[in-house]
Amino acid sequence: MKYGITETVKTLDSKTKVVDIIYSIVEEKTRAVKYFLEGEEFRETLIFGAYLCGNYMASSLLNDSEKVILVDIYPHLRDIVRNERITFMDINSFNLALRNGRLNPDLVIDLTGLGGVSPEVISHFDPEVLIVENPKGVYDRDIYEVDNSLERLRVGRRRGLLNTYRISRVSKTSGTMTLTIDTVLDACHEIRELEGILYVVPNLRYYEGILFHEKNVRKFMEEINKPAITVSCLDEDIYPEVEKILKRNIERVKSFVEPVDR
Ligand code: SAH
Repeated sequence: MKYGITETVKTLDSKTKVVDIIYSIVEEKTRAVKYFLEGEEFRETLIFGAYLCGNYMASSLLNDSEKVILVDIYPHLRDIVRNERITFMDINSFNLALRNGRLNPDLVIDLTGLGGVSPEVISHFDPEVLIVENPKGVYDRDIYEVDNSLERLRVGRRRGLLNTYRISRVSKTSGTMTLTIDTVLDACHEIRELEGILYVVPNLRYYEGILFHEKNVRKFMEEINKPAITVSCLDEDIYPEVEKILKRNIERVKSFVEPVDR
C-alpha cells in the first residue's frame, strides 16, 4: 500500500500480475487439449505458433509425446522457449524439413489464428489427431470472414476445433492476449463500482509491439510481470475484494475442443 495525494487516499497494486492471467488462460487451453487427447501417446507432435500459448502447450505435451516440435515464423521467439526438450523451428528450417520428408507428426496443433498457417501447409500431413484453434469470439462479420480454421481441418483421423470464450462476457477473439486484456478491463469496471474506490487503472501496454516489433523478449517478460491493476481508494481493507473480482473474471475463461467430422 502507498498513500495517494494525502493520507486519506491509498494506492493499491493487485497481487495478480498480467503474467498470472496469461498463465491461467494458457493452462485452461492446454487442459482442454489434453482432455480431447484422452491420455493418448504420440511419437511426434507438431505445434504451429509459439506465442502465446504454444510454448506452454509444447512443454506440457512433452509428457505425452516422444518429440515436440514448435514452429514459428519469427525466429527470435526461440528465446521464449525455455524447455530444451522442445525442438524449435523457424519457418525456413520447417520448410526444409518438410521438403526433405523429415516430418511425420501423429499430432498436429495449429494455434496461429487469423492470418496464420495456410490450409495447404497442414494438408501435407496425415496425423492421428489434428487440433486447430478457432480464433473467433463474439460475432464480428469482418473477423468471421477472415477466419479459415475449418478449411485447415481437412486431415487427421480425429479432428477438433479449440474454442475459448468467457462466460457471460464478450471478447472479439479467443486469443490469449485479447482475453487477458478484456479480463483486466472488465475487472476494472466492476472494481470501480465498489464504494470507497476513487478510480481503477488497468496496468496494460501494447505488449505485442515489444515482442514482435522491438523483438525484445526480455522487456516483454518484464512488462507482463507487473501488477494487472492499480486502485485508488479510501480504505486498504477493500483489497481482498479487488483480488476476488479479478479472480472471478479470470475464471470466466473456458476452453473446449469441439470434435469436427471428417
Ligand atoms: N492463438 C494464440 C496466439 C497466436 S498469435 C494464443 O491465443 O495464444 C500467432 C502466432 O503464430 C505468432 O507467434 C506468429 O508468429 C505465429 N505464426 C503466424 N503465422 C505462422 C505460420 N504461417 N507458421 C508458423 N507460425 C506462424
